[in-house]
Amino acid sequence: MDKNRSGGAMRAETAVVGAGASGCMAAVSAALAGCGVTLIDANDKIARKIYATGNGRCNLTNLHMAENCYHAGGGEDLSAFFARFSVEDHMRFWEERGVLLHDRQGYVYPLTDQASTIAEAYEKILRQLGVRILLGERVTSVKTQGNGPGGRFEVRTDKGSVIRAGKVILAGGGMAGPQYGCSGDLYRIAGELGHTVVKPLPALVPLLSGDKTLKASAGARCDARIRLCLDQREAAAERGELQMTEKGISGIPVFQLSAQAARALDRGVKVEAVIDFLPDMDEETWKREKDRRLGENRNCMLGTFFLGLVNRKILDMILRRRGLQAENKASKLPDEVLSGILEDMRAVPVGITGTAGFRQAQVTSGGIPLAETDGNLQSLTCRGLYLAGELLDVDGICGGYNLQWAAASGWIAGRSAAAAQDQRHKE
Ligand SMILES: Cc1cc2nc3c(=O)[nH]c(=O)nc-3n(C[C@H](O)[C@H](O)[C@H](O)COP(=O)(O)OP(=O)(O)OC[C@H]3O[C@@H](n4cnc5c(N)ncnc54)[C@H](O)[C@@H]3O)c2cc1C
Repeated sequence: MDKNRSGGAMRAETAVVGAGASGCMAAVSAALAGCGVTLIDANDKIARKIYATGNGRCNLTNLHMAENCYHAGGGEDLSAFFARFSVEDHMRFWEERGVLLHDRQGYVYPLTDQASTIAEAYEKILRQLGVRILLGERVTSVKTQGNGPGGRFEVRTDKGSVIRAGKVILAGGGMAGPQYGCSGDLYRIAGELGHTVVKPLPALVPLLSGDKTLKASAGARCDARIRLCLDQREAAAERGELQMTEKGISGIPVFQLSAQAARALDRGVKVEAVIDFLPDMDEETWKREKDRRLGENRNCMLGTFFLGLVNRKILDMILRRRGLQAENKASKLPDEVLSGILEDMRAVPVGITGTAGFRQAQVTSGGIPLAETDGNLQSLTCRGLYLAGELLDVDGICGGYNLQWAAASGWIAGRSAAAAQDQRHKE
């Protein structure tokens, strides 16, 4: 008889729900500490989302770590977690297991530049450690059952499996990327075990606008500085490659501002992105350039008059906002209008009406408050329950920060669950 089965139910010292970045790391860390682990995922393969990360290259972590790289809903300081599993620990973890890494300006990737390397390495390590893996099974309930035989928890799946476990680690992610298996199920399951949920919102996501003139610039990519204004006050700014879309704005600088924008929109605050398409131009050079342009022969079309300053599609969009076209004659317009068009290039205000939603989001802002766990990520409302990864109300900016959080929180939850198990066996 399978000594892990009793009365039709499987037994595990620790059951990990979710085999994404945090669940895989939690299972590895608990198994390395000698704990018998069962890892369950609704997908039919391990670490499904990891294959899609970093445009297929997996930006695993980042050498630059600072407090403002993360947002925790309760304003919690995450440094104690990263002191227990740092960027260096994360990199060492992989390199000791033969997964070599390299960095580009601090952004760390596997040396192969293939996200599949990380996903396949997780699978190899988990199998070497003897972790029992149940794939294609969605966990539908996690119930406590006192200290009965086989453990405190009973985990049930939609395929009829029942797992009795002493500890449970919930690592089912948030709602970002439902195409990778994230449905937000675990919010309900954690709720049944006493937790609350801060409203999940899409983050690291394109922003939408109702501004019809943006259509003229769709497809343009350019270096820009974007100021995020909330109720007309500048709240943050980012510089980088901006991508104009039919319905709004995208690209890394937009992603970096998106969580803040999504939270503000949810509070009913007016959100605007003010774009400077000439971010390198200092005031003095700009003034000289404007004076020179206004002093030039105007016997040409606007497209020619403004040539060489901004991407042509961006110019079309700026002109359209004033009811003009590139084919209009510059000589027909007074100085104030020509000067106004030049000013627009430094500050185009784009009203933001929403985000592109969870399907296009890389991460979830919101989730289970970190304050509902202790320093070991054990639930304060349900003893023996641990939480890790994106399921918690922690989100990072772009650049490897979310996978660093998934790995660190997974490592801590796994290690703590295993240590608590040890303790129970000693008692
Ligand atoms: C396109 C894309 C690119 C990204 N690129 C990067 C990057 O380069 N660098 C970076 O740092 N971050 C990146 N991220 C974010 C990062 O991937 C996530 O923050 C991270 O994977 C979260 O890990 P997690 O384990 O908490 O959740 P997930 O990786 O989402 O895993 C959760 C797992 O739980 C499973 N699950 C959920 N509910 C159940 C249930 N009821 N029963 C069983 N299983 C369940 C899901 O199937 C899923 O496999 C990217 C995200 C996306 C979508």
